[in-house]
This record gives sequence, C-alpha cells and structure tokens, in this order.
Amino acid sequence: MRPDRNELIRLLSISDKQELENLYKRAYQVKTQIVGRTVYFRGIIELSNFCIKNCFYCGIRKANPNVSRYMMTKDEALSSAIWAYEQGYGSIVIQSGEREDPEFTDFVTELVTEIKSMSKGELGITLSLGEQSEKVYQDWFNAGAHRYLLRIETSNPELYAKLHPHDHSWQRRLSCLRSLKKLGYQTGTGVMTGLPYQTIDDLADDILFFYDEDIDMLGMGPFIPHQDTPFVDYLNGFDNECALERGLKMIAVCRISLKDVNIASTTALQALNPTGREMGLLAGANIIMPNITDTKYRENYQLYEGKPCLDENASLCRGCLERRITSIGESIGYKQWGDSRHYLKARG
Ligand code: SAH
Ligand code: SF4
Repeated sequence: MRPDRNELIRLLSISDKQELENLYKRAYQVKTQIVGRTVYFRGIIELSNFCIKNCFYCGIRKANPNVSRYMMTKDEALSSAIWAYEQGYGSIVIQSGEREDPEFTDFVTELVTEIKSMSKGELGITLSLGEQSEKVYQDWFNAGAHRYLLRIETSNPELYAKLHPHDHSWQRRLSCLRSLKKLGYQTGTGVMTGLPYQTIDDLADDILFFYDEDIDMLGMGPFIPHQDTPFVDYLNGFDNECALERGLKMIAVCRISLKDVNIASTTALQALNPTGREMGLLAGANIIMPNITDTKYRENYQLYEGKPCLDENASLCRGCLERRITSIGESIGYKQWGDSRHYLKARG
C-alpha cells in the first residue's frame, strides 16, 4: 500500500526522545519480521576519485584542486575483490567519481568480467558509478554486475537544482534509474538527509518516490559539509547529534513504510558517531558496506569531513565490525548475496 504522506510527515517530525525510541523499536520489529536479523556485507572498493561532475556538496567534485586524484590499477582492484571473496563477503560494491569516457567504462567492463571469473560467479557485484548511457549499463550487466546504486539525492527537482550546477540534470538521473530497472538490475537509490534547503515534506516525498519507483535497495546518509566545497559555510554550527538523529529517523520511517527493501547503514552515520552504524541497524537497516579500499587511497576519497577508518586496513575493519554487530545480537550473512526481498518477490 502506498504510504500516507501525512503519516510520513508525522513520523519524520518526531523529536521527543521516548517517542523516537518507540519509532526505532517499531522499525526494528518490522525488520525482524520481514528481513530478519542477519546483516549482509558489501565490501566497498573506491576505484577512483576522478570526477567530471561538480555537485556542490561533494569533496571530490571536479573543481576541488586540493584533492590528489587517483585511479586504481586493475590488479589493485582485483586484489581487494579477492580479499573480500576470501573473507566470505557475499558481495562487493565498486564506487567511483563519475566518468563516461570509453577508456573508463571499458576498464570497468573488464574488471567486472575478471572478478566474476575469479570468484567462479560467487561474488555479487554492485556498481555505483553514476550516470551512464543505457548501452554502458547493459555492457556492465552482461559482464556480471547485478545491482546498481544511484542516489537520486532528492526527489524534488527544484531542490536538486539548488544543489548542483545547471548542467547537472535531475531528469537524466531519473531516466538512468529507470534504465537500470528495465535492464534487470537490482536497483538502489537514496537521498542525503539534512541537505541545505531540504524540508520534512521533501523527505516524506522522497519515501513516496522510492515507493512509486519500486526501488529495491536504499543507501541514505546525513549530508556532512566539506571544507573545499561551495557548502563550506554549513560547517559552522553543524550539529552532529541532530544530523545523526535525522539520518536514523529516515531509516526507521523507510523500514516501517517500505518494509522489504534492503537498507544500508552508511559510513556517514559512523562519521557522526563511532557507533552510528550499529544505531542504523537498530533503526531498521540490514546492510553494511565495510571499506576495503587500500588505505593509501582512502584519504583522497573524502566526500565529506571526518570519514572514519582512514588509516585502518580492511582486516582491522572486519574485526571491529564483527564485534560491533554481534554485540547488538545480530549475525552476519557470510557467503550470501543477501538480495533484496523486494526484488526477489517482484520476480517471483
Ligand atoms: N559519483 C557517484 C558515486 C560516488 S558519490 C554518484 O554520485 O552517484 C556517492 C554518494 O556520496 C553520493 O550519491 C552522495 O549522496 C554522497 N555524498 C557526496 N557528498 C556528500 C556529503 N558531503 N555528505 C554526505 N554524503 C555525500
Ligand atoms: Fe562526483 Fe558523485 Fe561527488 Fe557528484 S557526488 S561530485 S558525481 S563523486
């Protein structure tokens, strides 16, 4: 059933501590009943920080001269993927700044093909490489990628226009999402919470957008200002607590209203509080994306300030994550893809 907009606004407006606790508990109950208490890992490989875009909020936007740009070699990316496979991670996510040139898109096709064959088809591959032509999405799908994450950032085109330069198109982003679905990808989207100019009504409309677009997976996180962006002024008086609460509330309301989708507890939550990702799981999320990028590249992939685990290698990350997850009574779905129930249901 399509969620009721007024009810969404009511839930997203909760600020009383006790009522908030009740909201998280309710979301956790829905999660337990519908998707269970198993957390699935998607090891994230930050392939490159070259980007042709200039989103106003992002630390690796093209116009930021203070970033030293890198692109992993195929062997480096492959060895991270092999590491994830050997650890029993069910899936990886390959993420990057956006590039549409054939040198890059062909490189990704080859990389996906090799990861598939190296893991005998067992490792699930999610891509998060921005807007591309349908042909490129098709090539990557044929090579073996089966999920794609493309955040709409906001479902409100007018708000989108305030967050991006004129040549960035909300319509194109939407048509990319629809192409991905049409091609058969498990399709993920999401928004940032606490964006400049964003209202609670916008967030309620975001949830209705997820419903209407029949989205399988969600990756949402708080907007965190970055010093080398046009939104640097939002660093003044930025309230971590408030941003965290807004992010958690959005997860909880999405779980309650959309029920069977996969929802990631994102690193941005952890940037605001060392236990932010566990809080995300307790508010209804069921996916975690541990960073498995080689530490030598991590400091150059800072989309926002205060990104955690910059100097911690992937195996340390794994140990600390495992402890954190078991400490809240959940288990980890090693060697499983953990596909979205929503997706599986739709395809019978
Ligand atoms: N270039 C691709 C993927 C990398 S960016 C793309 O844009 O789709 C991945 C996500 O990082 C973006 O979708 C955005 O929601 C998030 N992000 C960027 N800047 C951020 C910031 N300052 N705070 C929080 N999240 C941010
Ligand atoms: Fe590039 Fe993605 Fe950052 Fe936008 S959000 S500047 S597309 S990396």
